[in-house]
Amino acid sequence: MIVDAHLDIGWNAIAHGRGFLQPPAPGYLVSRQSLVAAEVGLIFATLYTAPAHAERSMRTRFVYETPHEAHVIATAQVNYYRSCGLEMIGDRASLSAYVRGWRKGRLAAVLLMEGADPIVTPSELGAWTERGVRIIGPAWGRTRYSGGTNAPGGLTELGRQLLKAMRRKKVILDLSHMADQAVADAFAMWRGPIMASHSNARELVPGDRQVTAATVAEVARRGGIVGVSFYAHHLRARGKATLEDVVKHVVHHAKSAGGPEHVGIGTDLDGGFDTRYAPLDDVSRLKELRARLRLHFTQTQVDGIMGGNWLSFLERSLPET
Ligand SMILES: [Zn+2]
Repeated sequence: MIVDAHLDIGWNAIAHGRGFLQPPAPGYLVSRQSLVAAEVGLIFATLYTAPAHAERSMRTRFVYETPHEAHVIATAQVNYYRSCGLEMIGDRASLSAYVRGWRKGRLAAVLLMEGADPIVTPSELGAWTERGVRIIGPAWGRTRYSGGTNAPGGLTELGRQLLKAMRRKKVILDLSHMADQAVADAFAMWRGPIMASHSNARELVPGDRQVTAATVAEVARRGGIVGVSFYAHHLRARGKATLEDVVKHVVHHAKSAGGPEHVGIGTDLDGGFDTRYAPLDDVSRLKELRARLRLHFTQTQVDGIMGGNWLSFLERSLPET
């Protein structure tokens, strides 16, 4: 099965009316049906919330000014996933049962919170893990917890408290969108499972949204995985992105990580962008990515990149029950 470590499905439905159970909206790619047809079997489904300053760039009025508003927006997305009947994977036992029994047509999700502002205080984390959240990326832009994309800065005092609470609740840390100082702060204090759900190589596309080879190497040293994003502006500095750009980032991350076992995909498809900014016009073309990757890696390594690496990471990193 293919594993996609970053899809803003709840956000697309709630903020833009692009429902998951319908065919993809014109110009968009992701729906339950399109993922299943492409043999995607597991996704990391996000709870994404846009701060007020992103109203223009995210083309939505569904933004938050206060932690409480962020909480409400993220809660709506949890409820949306439930209403879709999306199966949620929360522990190792249910993951291995799901993987053993998987056949084409089945799709399950792990809940990932992108930007931690919906957590009003770290002491509230338990309420979110009970709702199924297993992975948290503290940042998007700047949040109350962390410096983020285009917003330099480290973990805040509240951010340090959040990471301690995450460790106690066995939540996985997602570095994507964290500012460089925040990544350094996290490496200094975090001893739990670590990953980057959708982060490309800064050596190929400059800018703080991408991760450095040193960050990839450290994530790998800790047994983590870095997912390659399919957003054009993450894939290349200018021009139309292609699957070959995806391959370049996979190859680059694999070199930085010391092997392709630490690389996966986290497409972010439809995450506020449409097919004009995607390297494919149909999710079923993920098949072609396999063939292209095969020119650089063995069949086993390609299977790992397309999904197996995320599965073994989750087997090591999810709570046992
Ligand atoms: Zn993102």
